[in-house]
Amino acid sequence: MPKPAPAAYPELCSLLREAATLNAVGSLVSWDQETYMPPAAAAARAEQSSLLARLVHERRTNPRVGELIGACENDASLNGDGAVARSLREMRRDYDLATKLPGSLVAELAKVGSQAQEVWKKARADSDFAAFAPWLERMMALSRRKAECYGWPREGEIYDALLDEYEPGMTSRQVGAIFTPLRTRLTDLLGRLMASRNKPGDAPLKAKIPQEAQHRFGLTVLKALGFDLDAGRLDVTTHPFCSGLAPGDTRLTTRYRDEKFTDALFGTMHEMGHGLYEQGLPKTPEHFGTPLADAISLGIHESQSRMWENFVGRGKPFWRWALPHARKAFGRPFATMTLDRIYRAVNIVTPSLIRVEADECTYNLHIMVRFELERALLSGGLKVKDLPGEWNRRYKEYLHIKIPDDRRGCLQDVHWSFGLVGYFPTYTLGNLYAGQFWEKIRRDLKDLDTDLARGRFDGLKGWLNRHIHAHGKRYRAGELCERVTGRPLSADPLLRHLETKLGEVYGL
Ligand code: ZN
Repeated sequence: MPKPAPAAYPELCSLLREAATLNAVGSLVSWDQETYMPPAAAAARAEQSSLLARLVHERRTNPRVGELIGACENDASLNGDGAVARSLREMRRDYDLATKLPGSLVAELAKVGSQAQEVWKKARADSDFAAFAPWLERMMALSRRKAECYGWPREGEIYDALLDEYEPGMTSRQVGAIFTPLRTRLTDLLGRLMASRNKPGDAPLKAKIPQEAQHRFGLTVLKALGFDLDAGRLDVTTHPFCSGLAPGDTRLTTRYRDEKFTDALFGTMHEMGHGLYEQGLPKTPEHFGTPLADAISLGIHESQSRMWENFVGRGKPFWRWALPHARKAFGRPFATMTLDRIYRAVNIVTPSLIRVEADECTYNLHIMVRFELERALLSGGLKVKDLPGEWNRRYKEYLHIKIPDDRRGCLQDVHWSFGLVGYFPTYTLGNLYAGQFWEKIRRDLKDLDTDLARGRFDGLKGWLNRHIHAHGKRYRAGELCERVTGRPLSADPLLRHLETKLGEVYGL
């Protein structure tokens, strides 16, 4: 066995840092495309983006990176359980994932995906599933080929290969074991909420608030919650997102509607949760570009956004603090608003057709439907032609609603059209991790409610910084959850949170 060069690890980090720097330029270019780019620049921008993507891919799959990882793996001084050993484990995983797919498959996925997305847009507008079906067929076939290149554990199934890309180490069996009891209890809770005679009124959500006032209020909230605006920005886009571009540069976007100011408010708090995670990662010159400065998984990322959006933003202590600020920013429409009315209104639960408009409780049922169906489509247990029927049947069973057309049914999400299979469960995993962390936080921070009501959010932010953000990708999601909460992930904490809060709001 050749003796590894002692400089292998630093050289490896410096190569990966270059790739990450190029990647940051690519993210900046796409952020600009979503925010300020003049429309006539679209063609040139597509070329810039694709060139940058190619350069990043070349750097990440550079054979020298593979050699250096191999050399480090053979260096006993870098083995064990320390930060560097864990960083190497993730570098190996990233390198293998990046090099396992043949270039021809990557190109085909990109090309068919972009065509399928165009077909999907029109099919959705026309509510014409038959037009989209052959393209979904092709994308599923390509996803199957992708999964075969990645491979999956012998005791697992093909879906695991794709899920693992977004939620490393998680399997469909584990997800199923958590989701099934969650679904049963949520469906039961929903039934009880809908039968309540004490439903909250939605008048507070219908107040017309000018967008300028909403923006001002959004910034007040961001600053108070601890988002560093010297190291980030808030802009407006059609589809809100957060991009942790580079050290000291985390960009959030939101969108405003005159009606339903809560869309922008909770959208901003959601993206800010992602943003606080990005700002809390140790993106030091030493770690930037390595797994130690990276987020763990989509599920953990989503746990951060959902925590600020739902556990904080839809809680009474937050509104105790926020209401006077809202009165000041919003003026007349909020002059007579009471804490009780606004708190109850932001916790309204209604079964709805569209996932992205769903409330904190029913959202997870929308995800169950997608998880079960994409898992069956991928394994071949469900034929594409039978998708609308199965979709509608599940909505009836889980959410008690009838789907009027495919536009508001199985054609509503963009994900499958460009090959995002295995991604949906991470939304609900995020809610579950958030629920479990939240219980632990409440045990650790005894004065949490009083602090939040006084606008003191630094205790909570500090807790998240220390227990979650600072580790980078040192732990896998399941491992982090056990380390932090002492237990493997379970549906119980989220259910306890929803049953307690909503039970009170609906007077159950
Ligand atoms: Zn999110």
